[in-house]
Amino acid sequence: MSDSTSKTLLWFRHQLRIDDQPLFDAIQPGSDDVVGLWILDPRSHFDDRHGFTRTGPHRLRFLLETVDELRASMRALNTDLLIRVGRPEDIIPGLVDQLDIEQVCLVEEPGTEEHAVERATIDRISCRCTRLVPETLLQIDDPQEFARSLPEVFSSFRRNAEKHLEPRPPRNAPPGLRGMTLPADFDHGALPHLPLEGIPEQPVDERTVLRFHGGESSGRDRLQQWMHDGDNLKQYKQTRNGMLGPDYSSKFSPWISTGALSSRRINEETFRYERENIANESTYWLRFELLWREYFRLYLLKHGPRMFQSAGPSGVRLDWGRDQFRFEAWKNGVTGVPLVDANMRELQATGFMSNRGRQIVASFLAKNLDVDWRWGARWFEHCLIDYCPAANWGNWTYAAGVGADPRGFRGFDIARQARNYDSDGAYVAHWLPEELHGLKGMARHEPWKHGRPAPIVDPTRSLKAAQDRWESAHQGHPS
Ligand code: FAD
Repeated sequence: MSDSTSKTLLWFRHQLRIDDQPLFDAIQPGSDDVVGLWILDPRSHFDDRHGFTRTGPHRLRFLLETVDELRASMRALNTDLLIRVGRPEDIIPGLVDQLDIEQVCLVEEPGTEEHAVERATIDRISCRCTRLVPETLLQIDDPQEFARSLPEVFSSFRRNAEKHLEPRPPRNAPPGLRGMTLPADFDHGALPHLPLEGIPEQPVDERTVLRFHGGESSGRDRLQQWMHDGDNLKQYKQTRNGMLGPDYSSKFSPWISTGALSSRRINEETFRYERENIANESTYWLRFELLWREYFRLYLLKHGPRMFQSAGPSGVRLDWGRDQFRFEAWKNGVTGVPLVDANMRELQATGFMSNRGRQIVASFLAKNLDVDWRWGARWFEHCLIDYCPAANWGNWTYAAGVGADPRGFRGFDIARQARNYDSDGAYVAHWLPEELHGLKGMARHEPWKHGRPAPIVDPTRSLKAAQDRWESAHQGHPS
C-alpha cells in the first residue's frame, strides 16, 4: 500500500482482469488517481523465426477480446485502459512525462523476456515504480527466493506445498476507482484488430471443443457452467484424459493464461464445490493440476534462459535433428499417424488441444521424428490460445526429456495411447473424416495396414531409435 496519494499508472501485463487483481494492492482506491495501460509489444507477437509469427490468429483474437473487456471493466470502475502498440520501454517513459505520473505499478512475470522488458522500462522512467512479485497461488512471499531451492521433481514440491503452504484467497474487485483526469485531446488508443502485421483473421473450425471467447466474464461463465451448473468436477479425474467434447476437462487454461481468470479464484471455487456437493479424488485433482501450473512458473524463475535452450534445465546434450520436411509434416498434421495428425489439425484449426494430445504430439516430434523440441514449442506458442511461457516450455522440456523429473527414457507408444484413449477411433475420425473414411475402431489408428499410405516414420522402430539415442547421450551423464 502506498503511503501518499499519487497519480498512478497501472501497467496490465498478464493479469487481464478486475477480480483478484494484484495491481490494486499497490493503490489506495479512494484517493489515488489511476489509469490503466495495456501494450501490444510487437516483439512478443509479430517476430518471425520459422516462417510463422510468434502469435497466430486464434491466440491474438482471444487476447484482443480479453483486452476489450478489460477496457470496458475499467471504464465501469470510473477510469480507463489506455492502449498502445510498441515497446513498453519507449512508451511508458513518454506517458509518465506527458501525464505527470508519480507512480507506475507492474506485476513481475517469471519469463526471462518479460523480466528484460521490465528492467529496460524501469531504467528509463523518472517516477516511483512499484513492482509486485510474480503472482502465486500459494502463500509464497518471495517467489524468486523460494524458486532457488525448488526441487527438480514435481512430487517433492507438491508434498511440501500440501503440508506447509496454504493457498492464498482471491481478492475482491474494488467497487470503483478514482479515474485520472486526462487532457481533453489525449489519445486513449484504439484496440488493434485482425488482420494485423501479417496475422490474418481466421475463423474457428466448427468442430472445436468449445467456443472460446476471451475476457473475464466468459471465463467466469465457464467456471460457473463447468464446475457448478454442469457438475463436471466430481468426475474430472476419470474424464480429464479425453480429447473430444467440451467437458472432459475444465478448459480454463485460455482464461488463466491471459489472466482473465485467477487460479486463486478457481482454487477457492473447488472448496466451495466440495462444501456444497462432494469432496473426492476429482475435486482434489483439479487443485493438483493447478499446482503443476504453479510449479512450472517457479521452475521458470529458477532456471531462466535454460528453459529455452536445447539441453534444457537437465543440461543433457542430445544431438537434435532439424529436418524441415518432418517438422512441416508434424505441424500440418500429415505425418500419416492419425492420432498425431488429428491433434495437430485441431490445434491449427482451433487454437486448442487436450493435455493428452499435447503429450502425444510433443513426444512424437521429439522422439519419433527426432526434431528439435524447441521448434515444436514455438509452433505451440504460435497456435495455443492458452499459451503461457512457463507451462509451454516447462511441459516441452519434460516431454523432450531435458526438463523436470528426467527419469529414464520416456516416449509414447502411439498404438497403446490409441487403445487407451480413443479405442473406437471417434476422435481421429472427427478430425480426419476423409482419410479414415470406411474404417472403424482401431483400424482408424493404423490405416496403413488397410491399404492406406504408410506414415513418414514407423512409430515402433522410430521410438526404439530414440531410446538408443537417449541412452547413449546419458552414458556418463547422471540424471
Ligand atoms: P484441466 O485439465 O482442466 O486443468 C486445469 C488447469 O490446470 C489448466 O487450465 C492449467 O492451468 C493447469 N494445468 C493442467 N495441466 C497442466 C500442466 N501439465 N502444466 C501446467 N499447468 C497445467 N498449459 C497452458 O496453460 N499453457 C501452455 O502453453 C501449455 N503448453 C503445454 C505444452 C505441452 C507440450 C504440454 C504437454 C502441456 C501444455 N500445457 C499448457 C498444459 C496442459 O496441457 C493444459 O494446461 C491443459 O490441457 C489445458 O486444458 P484445461 O484447462 O481443460 O486443463
